[in-house]
Amino acid sequence: MKVRHLLPDEYLSLFETKFTEFQIHETKATCDNCAKSKPQYKKNDDYLPDLKCCTYQPFLPNYAVGAILSQKSEGYKEAQKVIRSKIKNREYALPIGLLPSVKYQVGFQKNKKKIFGQDRDYLCPYFSVKNNSCGIWKYRGSVCTSFYCMSSYGQKGQKFWRHVRHLLSYTEMLLMEEALVHLDFSPRQISEQIEYLDRSQGTAAELKSHRMSPSAFKKHWQDRAQDPEAFYIRSYEFVKSFSKKDYLESSGEIGQQIQDELFAQIEILKAQEKQK
Ligand code: SF4
Ligand code: SF4
Repeated sequence: MKVRHLLPDEYLSLFETKFTEFQIHETKATCDNCAKSKPQYKKNDDYLPDLKCCTYQPFLPNYAVGAILSQKSEGYKEAQKVIRSKIKNREYALPIGLLPSVKYQVGFQKNKKKIFGQDRDYLCPYFSVKNNSCGIWKYRGSVCTSFYCMSSYGQKGQKFWRHVRHLLSYTEMLLMEEALVHLDFSPRQISEQIEYLDRSQGTAAELKSHRMSPSAFKKHWQDRAQDPEAFYIRSYEFVKSFSKKDYLESSGEIGQQIQDELFAQIEILKAQEKQK
C-alpha cells in the first residue's frame, strides 16, 4: 500500500512524494481480523477482538475535527455524533482540538499495561462498534496512523513508523497552531490549552469528571463558545488552503530534518525489500 492511502488528503500536497508514494507492505498487522487477538498471541497481549488496540483516545487537532464534521459520507456519521456530543458536554473540546479528558489521561498512564486491548472503559470514542473498526480512519491522528503492533520489516519497520509518527505529530501541532493564529488566538491562549495534553497528573476537579467546568470552557473559547463546530470547520478550511511553500516556511530547519530522517528510513526499508 502506498503511504498516501493512510493520510488525510490535505497532507498530500505538503509532503514529498518520496514519502507519500512509498509502497509499504505490512502484512503482519491484520487489523480487520486483529492479529493480536488471535489465540497464539493471547498469552502475551490478550487483546479482545472487539477492542483491538483501540483502548486509547488520540488527540485530534482542530482542523481534523473540522474535516470529520465536513465529511458527507455515511461512514463518518457516528463520529460526527460523538464530536457534537463532546462539544455539547464540554468534554475537552477546545480550540486546539479534541482531547481525552485529564481523568482519562491520568487513568490510562497509571494502568496502561492492564488497559491496553482489554478495558472497555477506555475504548476510543471514535471506534465504530458496529463495524469493529476505526470510525475516523484518515483523520485518526499521528499516534494511531503510525501504530503497527507488528511490522513485516521487524525492528527496522518499527523504527520507520516512529519516524512517521514524529513527522505527523510535528505537522499536527504546526497546522493546529497556524490555524489558531489565523483565527486570532494569541501564543499565551494556545499554550494554556496545550497544557492539557500529555498529562499524568490532574487537579482534584480534573480527576472528578470527564467534563470541563463551564468557566474553564468559556475561558478557552471566549466569544466563540456559541459555535465551536463552525470554528473547527474554519480551521479545516484554513488548513486546506495551506500550501507546500507555507508548510516549508513554517516547519523550518527542524521540519526539514525530521523529513530527511524519515527519507533515510525509507531507503533502509527499500534496501531490505531488495534483499528478500
Ligand atoms: S495494529 Fe491493532 S488492530 Fe491491527 S493487528 Fe495490531 S493490535 Fe490488531
Ligand atoms: S482513532 Fe481510530 S484507530 Fe485510533 S484508537 Fe480511535 S478507533 Fe482506534
